[in-house]
Amino acid sequence: MNKKPYLQTFPNSEGYFGKYGGAFLPPELIEQFKDINKAYLTIGNSHNFIMELRDIRKHYQGRPTPVYYAKRLTEYVGGGRIYLKREDLNHTGAHKLNHCMGEALLANYLGKKKLIAETGAGQHGVALATAAAYFGLECEIHMGEVDIEKEHPNVIRMKMLGAKVVPVSFGGRTLKEAVDSAFEAFMKDPENLFYAIGSVVGPHPFPMMVRDFQSIVGIEAKEQFFEMTGNQPDNLVACVGGGSNAMGLFSAFIEEPCEIYAVEPLGKGTKLGEHAASLTYGKEGVLHGFNSIMLQNEDGSPAPVHSVASGLDYPSVGPEQAYLNRENRTHAVAIDDDEAIRAFYDLCKYEGIIPALESAHAVAYAMKLAKEKPYESILVNLSGRGDKDIDFVEKAYPPENYL
Ligand SMILES: *Cc1c(COP(=O)(O)O)cnc(C)c1O
Repeated sequence: MNKKPYLQTFPNSEGYFGKYGGAFLPPELIEQFKDINKAYLTIGNSHNFIMELRDIRKHYQGRPTPVYYAKRLTEYVGGGRIYLKREDLNHTGAHKLNHCMGEALLANYLGKKKLIAETGAGQHGVALATAAAYFGLECEIHMGEVDIEKEHPNVIRMKMLGAKVVPVSFGGRTLKEAVDSAFEAFMKDPENLFYAIGSVVGPHPFPMMVRDFQSIVGIEAKEQFFEMTGNQPDNLVACVGGGSNAMGLFSAFIEEPCEIYAVEPLGKGTKLGEHAASLTYGKEGVLHGFNSIMLQNEDGSPAPVHSVASGLDYPSVGPEQAYLNRENRTHAVAIDDDEAIRAFYDLCKYEGIIPALESAHAVAYAMKLAKEKPYESILVNLSGRGDKDIDFVEKAYPPENYL
């Protein structure tokens, strides 16, 4: 008998990718998450659900997004060919709507009244508020005060889209605390709320479900790249916060002969607290309901993290990313704040594309790789556009210093 494809084998029925994943939950939520899993496996595999989601992708989100050959950037670097999967052109300006529309559609089938979630850069919050408006559901978004200040335009967007934004004022006041806060609110009324996790993290079935909803990115990119070049890409590059845009692209290529690079944020340096490179510097640990690789203090608590890109500063990483990395199927690499900012401006200058600071990490690594592999192709997931970051970048890294 033939071996089953990777995507059907991972995760197992308990949500494990090797030893990573699972569902570490308070007893009163165990049944809730089992029900979500069952609903996803039945409803999510029904013809009606699949057709409705495909219709949304095409007519509402504006998919497929293009794959684009970045000619001038490639010439500037003087090496391997760089291609961009343009998730910045997806409605709301990032890949996150791919899983939000899927999650909201499932919530709608389940008769839930309200979507609840955390957000870092605000991209997941905007995407979820968009999905809530589309389906006529209520929406509550928890966001750290540090991120609220930094990502002001996204806060306004969420409000305009009808979502309630709950500021989180404890701890580091960024993504990790926002998850804690949203989870606590969800626990109070799990019957009526649907917790729409913003990445391939959290308890089973979310890492699987979000990956599957994101897999459209890789499915499209594979076809488009082949049509364009008659070949498979030699290398894939994506930035990793939780790992959803990366899994979206990677999932179509796990069994293909290409090298895969997961780009983590090295922030200001290699010391604990200066970065959020969980795969590179982390140890096994449980956070937010799943077992994975995590940046931790000596007592095992999650370490403080930093990245210039709010969407990447999370002290852990999705279990599938941890698994693929430990199996050496993917390579974890790191890009620091300065390198990301330089790539941000390079993409502006040479391609007329303002990337999200998160995506700029992937671009920065692709440029390094292009120098190392001058005869190969590199497909980058350009996870989002940078409109949300322009105020911050202009103040902290003025264009006149870079262009
Ligand atoms: C949220 C976000 C990320 C990081 O999240 P992943 O789950 O790792 O993809 C990357 N890029 C953009 C544009 C984002 O909004």
